[in-house]
Amino acid sequence: MFHKQIIITGAGLVGSLLAIYLRRKGYSVSIYERRGDMRKEAVEAGRSINLALSDRGIKALREVGIADAVLEIAIPMHGRHLHQPDGTHAFQPYGKEGQYINSVSRRELNCTLMDLAEREGVVLNFGHACTGVDWKTNTISFAAQGSAETRQFDLLFGADGAYSATRLAHMLQHQKFEYQQHYIDCGYKELSIPAGPGGSFLLEKNALHIWPRGNYMLIALPNLDGTFTGTLFFPFEGETSFEKLTTKEAVTDFFARTFPDVVPLVPDLEDQFFRNPTASLVTVKCFPWVREDKFSLIGDAAHAIVPFFGQGMNAGFEDCSVLAGLVEQHGEDWGTILQQFQELRKPDADAIADLAVNNFTEMRSRTADPKFLLQKKIEAWLHEQHPDQWIPAYSQVTFSPQIRYSEALRNMLRQEAIMQEVMQEPGIESNWQKEEVAARIISMKSQAT
Ligand code: FAD
Repeated sequence: MFHKQIIITGAGLVGSLLAIYLRRKGYSVSIYERRGDMRKEAVEAGRSINLALSDRGIKALREVGIADAVLEIAIPMHGRHLHQPDGTHAFQPYGKEGQYINSVSRRELNCTLMDLAEREGVVLNFGHACTGVDWKTNTISFAAQGSAETRQFDLLFGADGAYSATRLAHMLQHQKFEYQQHYIDCGYKELSIPAGPGGSFLLEKNALHIWPRGNYMLIALPNLDGTFTGTLFFPFEGETSFEKLTTKEAVTDFFARTFPDVVPLVPDLEDQFFRNPTASLVTVKCFPWVREDKFSLIGDAAHAIVPFFGQGMNAGFEDCSVLAGLVEQHGEDWGTILQQFQELRKPDADAIADLAVNNFTEMRSRTADPKFLLQKKIEAWLHEQHPDQWIPAYSQVTFSPQIRYSEALRNMLRQEAIMQEVMQEPGIESNWQKEEVAARIISMKSQAT
């Protein structure tokens, strides 16, 4: 057992997983969480009801031995089920046969992680909101049920999410802290699609549903009880926007015109629309994440990203796995561990942040374009024919944890430029399955490398 006292702020998805890793390395670990215990009280589980868990996240869960238990409470989603404005449907697989992402309840996953952390000996303190850190004395302050408390730490991790209080404490006492936050012009609102008779699914169960509509979209992910959690990503302001949908009639009319197949599925649509909050979506990039050998940001606190690649939690879980690998390598040399952690992860966090913003455009508008759907088909076919030489960007990010996000972004830019050229070729619609076409694309790729 090492003697360092480790404190983690935030018992969210990343803080809870990190605690398990560190406890297994022999440290004494305490988590301080602002909210109550969601396993016992009705507290909000956080920013979305369900999430897409994919290979990077699963790898980390496997390392702590709970991947199979989590996958048992998840629903495989094999591809995008696209609902076009003209009422037609199309299914687009995410990857090769057997590759899929998983819809999992945020609350269930968080509770599973907290249970395991506690079983391993992590001390969980609820109702403790971090209010500040004194970097000279290595003490952290909390507001706890109306009183102020302080605790001593040897090593502190800020896993307190996109609006991190530990990040603020770090930033305020730093001479050259870089900070950038960007809100996209769309917010989101969750709308629940109920189950059918006997808990049946009213939409195809094993898919992520998307209704792409240009500069906005609706998506829906399945839940174990037969419901779907729909999320409307929609502009805050403008001609078609949240600010225009202020009456029940306006909401009814908008959905009837834009998502007619959704209306019969959600009988209390208007009530939900006005009852459920509209939330914003932020990207946070900052640097440095670490302070000497005693502090690091991790997860959303270090790198909040928009949800369009389904990677925020997966990236945070990957952070934990990378950090644990460095502990394995460097033992108790935390100065080196933290330095290498940010050197490795910062470029990858920036890359997935950019990929996620880019994927919003792809999901909300390009998936409605037949030419884009053909491009995806060609790329999937190329991947089948030449699995090592052409891996679609989505697969690199989602199914290839061995490829770093920063490498996936570079590859995506190169491949996209090639595909833009290929899609201009006369007759590509009919001759794309010819071997000479594949050979030409692969040779363009090797020249661009
Ligand atoms: P959080 O989950 O935000 O947890 C932070 C914890 O810190 C919370 O428990 C909070 O109560 C606590 N806390 C906050 N302030 C304090 C304080 N002052 N003191 C103590 N504790 C504090 N990611 C995916 O991988 N796949 C998806 O499909 C996906 N979908 C998403 C959909 C939406 C709409 C959104 C908004 C995000 C989505 N994400 C997804 C991203 C994912 O939610 C985050 O990346 C993930 O929750 C980050 O985990 P975290 O533990 O770092 O932060």
